[in-house]
Parts: sequence; structure tokens; C-alpha cells
Amino acid sequence: MRKGIRLSDYEHAIGEHAVELKRIFPDGVARLWGSTPTQQTGNAKAVALRDRKVGDEVLFYAQNMFIARARILGLLHNPDLATAVWGVDEETRTTWEHIMALGDVVEFEVAAEPILTALAMTPPLRSLTLVRAAERRRHLGLLDGRMPTVEARPSGEGGAVAPPGRMRREDLLRALGTLDAVTPDERRIRQASLTLLWAIGRLMSGQSRLAPSNVYQTQLEPIMQEFGSPSPSVSLEYPFRHLRGSGLWEVVGTKRPGPDQLSLAASVESGTHAGLRRDAARLLRQPLARAEAIGLLCTTYFPDVNQEELLDRVGLGGYAHASGADGGAERDGRGGSVSALPKRRRQVTASRPDRDQQLAHRVKLLHLHQCQVCGLRLETRFSHYSEAAHIRGLGNPHDGPDELCNLLCLCPNHHVQFDTLAIYIDEQWNVRSSKDGASIGRLRRHPEHDIEAQYVEYHRGLCGGNR
Ligand SMILES: [Zn+2]
Repeated sequence: MRKGIRLSDYEHAIGEHAVELKRIFPDGVARLWGSTPTQQTGNAKAVALRDRKVGDEVLFYAQNMFIARARILGLLHNPDLATAVWGVDEETRTTWEHIMALGDVVEFEVAAEPILTALAMTPPLRSLTLVRAAERRRHLGLLDGRMPTVEARPSGEGGAVAPPGRMRREDLLRALGTLDAVTPDERRIRQASLTLLWAIGRLMSGQSRLAPSNVYQTQLEPIMQEFGSPSPSVSLEYPFRHLRGSGLWEVVGTKRPGPDQLSLAASVESGTHAGLRRDAARLLRQPLARAEAIGLLCTTYFPDVNQEELLDRVGLGGYAHASGADGGAERDGRGGSVSALPKRRRQVTASRPDRDQQLAHRVKLLHLHQCQVCGLRLETRFSHYSEAAHIRGLGNPHDGPDELCNLLCLCPNHHVQFDTLAIYIDEQWNVRSSKDGASIGRLRRHPEHDIEAQYVEYHRGLCGGNR
């Protein structure tokens, strides 16, 4: 239901419903939910199956939460298609032949009980419950009152979740930037964003994308205790399992967690692993998307946290700084190694990437030592002083090039601000404060000094300025 199936993969089994499904899902990706035939006629499931109509809404239910809603666009009875898609239930030898074609699929997470009470409905025994079309407006009002507005996108665009393998950089950033649409609970948003940072750190250090829950306990729990929102209880259950609602997360090993598999201990026994989805991980292995993701997570969810310490703890220390973990202290070459940067970890000089001092000299001369941000030309006794700043840092983890198009001529103050990600350059070459986006001025340019836009974009991503 979540990923959808390609109708073209099931042409052999669709039979008489080919035209109808093509009409409902013009882009060829169908979201289907099937039910097995029921023996009894009086139980809730039988009644719900019998009475449902096109236009009704289905609420998906798991662990006392509603986790998704969808609209019924079509109803079909098609055992061949059901067998092709889902197989046959080993025990009952039946298949999920009563099929709902679903649209407007939106994933979220809302406690079920208050909504059921307000609608005078009994808690569903099965994994879904039905809301009549006539009740839909009232019910949507109830749901929306409990969660931030979630845009229902046409199913062709993937609803709340991008279709597998097609996640783009902007999908990734949108999902990372809207964790509050998955859950309205601030404590959980903090847990989710911490978990994602930690997961990116794991990717960077070459650890596996998916991990069992005991790894979460040993690695993530201490970080949660240190950087999570103040709360006596730290539960890893939420990020381990329910981060799925973000569209970035995957839980494998248990098909549908039943009540007996709720605890983390049980999930170790059942071999459940969780982690970033494959396509999200693929994007996060690209330097630009990774820099943007980390910058966005930090600026969106951790404005009140020492990000340098946080990033250090999750193995992403170099991302707190534009020049990376091993380049920051280097300055002009005349002024010695005095650095105004707070708490920078000084690495041995030998690990610092070699810089071309000729290039640094050239950019300063082109600009006559005038800061490209503020225009200051700092006077010394016999000359002037300025600094050459790399836009995309040279060393690990940024790996920017030592080229003129990756350099700026800055005064020491703006160099520090640029390196500590306090200011960035927008697409129109305005210099802005990372804190509130306020414009500080326009970057002064020189006709003989081409600046490569992709390096500016990378630095802007680190600052959380690419949204
Ligand atoms: Zn300046």
C-alpha cells in the first residue's frame, strides 16, 4: 500500500480490472489493500467489508495509533491479482482478494483513542477502520486538529513518501525539514532528528545502514540522554520503529509488529533491524546532499544546542565548520596560527591539507585586501591585511578544491563568521545571517575572479540555507 505496485508488472493477472485500474492510477503505480474473505457475517470486519463504498476513507491503525489515511477510489474482487501481489495465506489457503484501490494516501501518527471516542466508534480489532464519506469532513477536522497540516499530494507524486528509488535531493530535504508533520510531539521530533543525524554519522564511518535495536541502545541512547529534550524517560522504541512515517526510514525483519513484538528486547530476538532507507542513504552518500541534510537538521531542530559538540558525538564533527575538522586554524601565513575560533580541536599541522599560498596571495591582491563582505581594508603598519577563505573547505569531510574559484578574500571577522557557518551567500550573491536569513549586504565581486556557484551552494547547505 505504501510503495504502490507497477500495474505493468501485473498485467498477466489484472484481467477484467485493467481499464478501471488504469483510470484510477493513470501514472501506472497502484496503491492497493486487500482483505481475505471472512467466514462470519456479523463481525466488525465483515460488516466493514460489506458496507464500504468508493469515497469512504480508511484509517490505518497500529499500536494504538492511526498511522495513515487513504480514500477508497475503487473496490474490486480479484483473486488472481491478489495472489500475484500478495501470495496465499499459508494457513487458510485464501488470498486477500477483496481489494481496495486507494488514493490520497497520507501518513502521520496520531493517538487513535481520542478520535475514536469523538466519532463514537469502537477501537478497531484489525489494522484498519472505516470512516463513511458523510462522516469524512468531521473526521478530517478532528485529525487535523491533532496534527500539523499535511499536504495530500496526488498519489502519482508519492503522497507523503517518495516512491522507492526515485527519491530526489529535494524530497530528502523536504522530509528532513518536516519531521513535525510526522508527529506533533516535540520530544519525538527531537528524538527523530537526533536519530537521523546519528544514522548519517554511521553512514559516514562506513557502518551498515541498518542496525539491530541493541546497537541503538549502546550507541544512540547515551546521545539521546545528552541531547534529547529534558525528559526522564528515553524511549528508543519511537525512533527505531516509527521513524518510518518520515519516509526516510526502514524497519526490516518483522512483517507487521504485533503487540508481542513491541519491546526492543523482543525486536532483538526477532532479528528486526532499522535504519535509513536505501535511496535516502544513497543520496546522503553524496557530499552536497549530505552537507545540506546535516545543515538543515541542525538549524531546524537544534537551535538551542551546542551543535559542535552534538556533531562531534555523532561522528560528524567536521560539519560544524566550513573548513572541516582539520583546516580551521590556518590563516594568512603571516599572522602565525592564532585562531579566534572557539573550541576548535587543533590537529597536528601535518594532517592539514596543503594550501597553495600563491593562490591565496592572488585572491587578496585581486581584491586589494578588501573584504568581499563588508569592504573593510584592514591597515597594518606597512601594508594591508586580509585572509583567503575557502568556500568549500579543503580537508575532511568537505574535500573542496584549492582553486581560485573556491576562494574569497575576507577580513578576519567575516572569515571567522564564514567558517563557523554564521553567514552564507544566497543564490543572488547576497550575504545572509544563518540565524534568521537577514541580509548583511551583497558579496562584492571582481570581474577576474570567477566564483564557482556549486561551492557556494555547498557552504550554504552546511548553513541550512538550502531549503
Ligand atoms: Zn568583512
